[in-house]
Amino acid sequence: MTEPKKKIKVAFPHMGIIYIAWAAALRKVGCEAFIPPYTSKKTLSLGTKYSPEAICLPYKLILGNFIEAIEGGADYVAMISSPGCCRLGEYGNCIKNALDDMGYHANYIELTLYDGIKGMYDFLKKISGKNDPVLFLRAILIAIRKVFICDELERKLAYYSAREVRQGEAEKHFLKALKMIDEANTTKKLLKAQKQAIAEIAKTEIDPKREILHVDITGEIYLVCDSFSNQNLAKELAKMGVETRKSLTVSGFLKDAIIPKIFRKGETHLQRAFRLAKPYLSRDIGGDALECVSDVAYANERGIDGIIHISPFTCMPEIMSQNIFPAMRENCDIPILPLIMDEQTGKAGYLTRLEAFVDLMRRRKRKNQLSQKQAETVK
Ligand code: SF4
Repeated sequence: MTEPKKKIKVAFPHMGIIYIAWAAALRKVGCEAFIPPYTSKKTLSLGTKYSPEAICLPYKLILGNFIEAIEGGADYVAMISSPGCCRLGEYGNCIKNALDDMGYHANYIELTLYDGIKGMYDFLKKISGKNDPVLFLRAILIAIRKVFICDELERKLAYYSAREVRQGEAEKHFLKALKMIDEANTTKKLLKAQKQAIAEIAKTEIDPKREILHVDITGEIYLVCDSFSNQNLAKELAKMGVETRKSLTVSGFLKDAIIPKIFRKGETHLQRAFRLAKPYLSRDIGGDALECVSDVAYANERGIDGIIHISPFTCMPEIMSQNIFPAMRENCDIPILPLIMDEQTGKAGYLTRLEAFVDLMRRRKRKNQLSQKQAETVK
């Protein structure tokens, strides 16, 4: 009797809940999705130990994820690469060399996202050893659909957790909902799971009278999307009655970088970024700086209570955007809280800054409401 062929185990680094999408694509083409343990303090210390001191936080966490994946038995570690003006373009080679130097000889493979569908297609072809365009297209489509659903679920989580009666209830339902999406392996099953997942989160009992503040979160995309690296920013704010909206999402990125123009509806994030950032920054300077500058203007335009800008220590594009914010004050009357994260960032000081910011926004909102009421009675 011939033994069944062993599936190769492929691991990607974590970034929030993106593992659900890449795992779906890998399973579809017949590989085993090896999901390393979610990023933890151990991952961070492993990554930090073997990284140059001044390199940005995402690099250290990704390296830590790879070490844990290889030690856990992954055959391949896959890195998302992209060109660009910042260090991201060098990440791939640096990580590969670091792993080699440490004696980890796992197979290293790159997925070039800015090559669009072609980049994903070539990646699946290499990793699976197959040549089946229909299968690869199905794998890409299910992964993209899952990205959009996961972002939708995170928006629901932000809504319910800011209003929940019992702390932690929305997150409990959210985790169940994620499992439903993860387990759906065909488009038909996924559509059904999407409805069930939304209904699951909606089971959260909420207090409709709670005074809610609305805050946008912008910054470097990895930190915005990854709850370990941003120290659970959205969760901490929800406890204070704040509904957050991530200005940078993976689905937003896919619309700009992967999805062909004919399938897009409306203005994409990057298109809006060029339009709104123009008076302050006229060109893309790498990373997410252009988007961040425009996000401040966009939040101001919508009358949002405040915006938080979160960036890794030493991130060059975000240092630039933070230096542009003061010049925006003339036209944008919105509270901005800049947060810089690295492996040294302590939780207590960070929470104190969040509480002070929420207090400031609440007092400002009440003051504005009062002046509005007084103006109406005078009329
Ligand atoms: S955007 Fe910033 S954090 Fe991200 S790779 Fe570039 S320099 Fe590093």
